[in-house]
Amino acid sequence: MVNFIFFGPPGAGKGTQAKLIADEYELIHISTGEILRTAIKNQTPLGIQAKQYVEKGELVPDELIIDMIRNRLNSYKNPKGFIFDGFPRTIKQAEAFDKMLEELNTQIHAVIRIKVPDQEVINRLLNRAKIEGRSDDTPEVIQHRLQVYRTNTEPLIDFYKKQNKLYEIDGVGTIEQVNQRIKQIINKFL
Ligand code: ADP
Repeated sequence: MVNFIFFGPPGAGKGTQAKLIADEYELIHISTGEILRTAIKNQTPLGIQAKQYVEKGELVPDELIIDMIRNRLNSYKNPKGFIFDGFPRTIKQAEAFDKMLEELNTQIHAVIRIKVPDQEVINRLLNRAKIEGRSDDTPEVIQHRLQVYRTNTEPLIDFYKKQNKLYEIDGVGTIEQVNQRIKQIINKFL
C-alpha cells in the first residue's frame, strides 16, 4: 500500500489534484470535507454532530474525524493505496493516524504540500463560492478557515518535515502544470 497526504490551505487545489491523481494511479481518494458534506446532507449521526462546526469554519472534533477515517480505512479490501485530502488537520489527528497505519502495517509515504500565496487562496475561494454556493464559502467563514488552518494545521508541516516525508510544490499555474509537478513526486513511489 502506498499512501499520500495532499496538504495545503483551503483553496490550494488539493481536491482537484487528488481526484486526477487517484484516477490515474488507481488510488482511493479520501476527502474528509466531502465525507462530512455528504453526512450532513443525509443527516446521518455524524452529519448531525458535524454540521455546526463545518458551517462556522471550525474543525470538527478530532475523535469524530479519527473514527471516520478508521471506518473508511477498514472498508476496503486490498487497496493499492490512498490519497488523504483534508486530513490530518491537527497534530492530534496526525499522531492517531500514524498509530492507525502502523496497526495496518503501512505508513504515509509522502506528504505533498501545495503552496499557494494567501491572496490567491482567498480569490479562489471567493470565486468557488459563486460557482458552488457552499455554505462555508462566505467571506467571513473563509477568513476564519484560513485562520484555523494557520493555527491548527500549519504545525503539521514541521511534524512531517521531521519524519522526512514533506515534499513541496508550487500550486500556482494551470491544473495541468500543477498535476505534472505532483506526478514527479508520486512517480518516485509508484
Ligand atoms: P477546505 O479545505 O476548502 O476548507 P474541506 O472540504 O477540506 O474544505 O473541509 C470543509 C470543512 O470540513 C472544514 O472547514 C472543517 O469544518 C471540516 N473538516 C474537514 N476535514 C476535517 C478534519 N480533518 N478535521 C476537522 N474538521 C475537518
